[in-house]
Amino acid sequence: MRPDDTEGTTLAGDGAAALAWVERYLERVGELPVLARVEPGKIRASLPAHPPEKGEPFANVLRDLDDVLLPGLTHWQSPRFFAYFATCASEPAILAELLAAGLNNVGILWRTSPALQELEELTLAWLAELFGLPAGWHGQLEDGASLSTLAALAAARHARPGHEVVVCSEHSHSSVEKACRLLGLEIRKVPADEEFRLRPDALDLTGACAVVATVGTTSTTSVDPVAPIADACEREGAWLHVDAAYAGSAMVCPELRWAFDGVERADSVVVNPHKWLLTAQGCSALWTRRPDALREAFSLVPEYLRTPDDVSSFSEYGPALGRGFRALQLWAVLRCFGREGLQASIRTAVALAESFESWVREEPGWELSAPRPFSVVCFRRDASDETNEELLGRVNARGDVFLSHTKLQGRYVLRLAVGNLRTTEDDVRTAWDVLREEAARVGS
Ligand code: PLP
Repeated sequence: MRPDDTEGTTLAGDGAAALAWVERYLERVGELPVLARVEPGKIRASLPAHPPEKGEPFANVLRDLDDVLLPGLTHWQSPRFFAYFATCASEPAILAELLAAGLNNVGILWRTSPALQELEELTLAWLAELFGLPAGWHGQLEDGASLSTLAALAAARHARPGHEVVVCSEHSHSSVEKACRLLGLEIRKVPADEEFRLRPDALDLTGACAVVATVGTTSTTSVDPVAPIADACEREGAWLHVDAAYAGSAMVCPELRWAFDGVERADSVVVNPHKWLLTAQGCSALWTRRPDALREAFSLVPEYLRTPDDVSSFSEYGPALGRGFRALQLWAVLRCFGREGLQASIRTAVALAESFESWVREEPGWELSAPRPFSVVCFRRDASDETNEELLGRVNARGDVFLSHTKLQGRYVLRLAVGNLRTTEDDVRTAWDVLREEAARVGS
């Protein structure tokens, strides 16, 4: 029986309505409270506890999206989302994701979708060229930087038997520690200098299979000095993995390339286009100049997946067997923006962050908490941690903007991250106005 109880969902009718919904959403997302204002459990309790017996019209899904789910969404697409790392799914990415779902190709083997595999290879080569990375590196897409780093460290462990330590900065992302936990490796954290950069003179590579250098750390976007770290790795024979999950997209701009000096000597590099290169979530690029090490760590081809094709598949280079057509959205973004469009979007974000930074610098009672290499500003009120925490709570409760925080040298610090294509100077100005208004209410 063909289930006609999908109530005849049609791409022409319902599809047009869904696209119109997205278009309208993106037009008005700037008017919605950025941070969701619901109590835990509220959304779930507003929906039926049990699945329907009979299929419903797709229009019901759109209706509940508006009536029930929307109030429970934090709007990552808002131009006034300034928390964590501000991201942006651009129109080409949104449309390509729709097409990828329509095609529903599953790349378990080259033959199950030659176009999926070869487009992914080509797109990663394009992106490497745009970033000025060495030609000929193997590139692949993973769901996120956590998985990319896991794959790289698995290869590093395999390449250096008997060496079970991963060295990284105290400011490296928690995904490094998680990968170590999963791989049974020990993590050794190196102290950072006063600008939150790994100190190469403090590197101890005894027993190390890998070092992770971060360009664009999560709290402050500080830049670990890759070149001297690469020297140490080469001396000791350790794998160098560069985590540039957020900042790596800035490699497209020559004036920001200084931060990546030495990256060409890495064994592997991860950059998340889903953070700062206009793709939707689920698009993390991993390159390596040692693909054989990845293949040795991961290749496992059971009989039912053997083919006579003289070509290896992505599934031999990472933890997942099946992969979606993720390359389509990245390819669409690269084509529709081109080098110039990508540069413009990065430069705009950096310039807006620079403006905000200058306002903080010039205003008595406020202080900058870290240098700003890219589009994230770390700052605080010249007051107690409690005051800063209360300030952030009040700012976010208003709904106009959403910012997040971190702790630096034991002190509570606010962060403003710019990254959405639709963010304008007015939006950043709104954030500053709201911060100042609420600061006046909190006092010090
Ligand atoms: N590495 C860095 C430097 C990050 O800032 C983040 C997330 O913010 C990650 C890795 C993890 O990224 P993902 O969520 O794609 O796993």
